[in-house]
Amino acid sequence: MPHDPPPRECAAIGCERTIETRYIMCRDHWAKVPRALQTAIHEACRPGSGGDLRASRRWVEAVADAVEDVARSEGRPPANRFRKALGRR
Ligand SMILES: [Zn+2]
Repeated sequence: MPHDPPPRECAAIGCERTIETRYIMCRDHWAKVPRALQTAIHEACRPGSGGDLRASRRWVEAVADAVEDVARSEGRPPANRFRKALGRR
């Protein structure tokens, strides 16, 4: 019997809500992400699915944009692990 993947926390900065692994953010934070970014995240491959590194990078970039957008709307510093994972640009 396969065991459940470990729970993950909402990607929004300062949010500690536990969410299902197929989501990135809790419902409240995801609702704050602009529709265009939600679409970009859905269209890009998740890391590890298919092994296309460029697609994975697009996904991480889109998530980083979304996390920063939500942080700005809440007046929090936008630094996050997704942007960090992309390295310097
Ligand atoms: Zn959240």
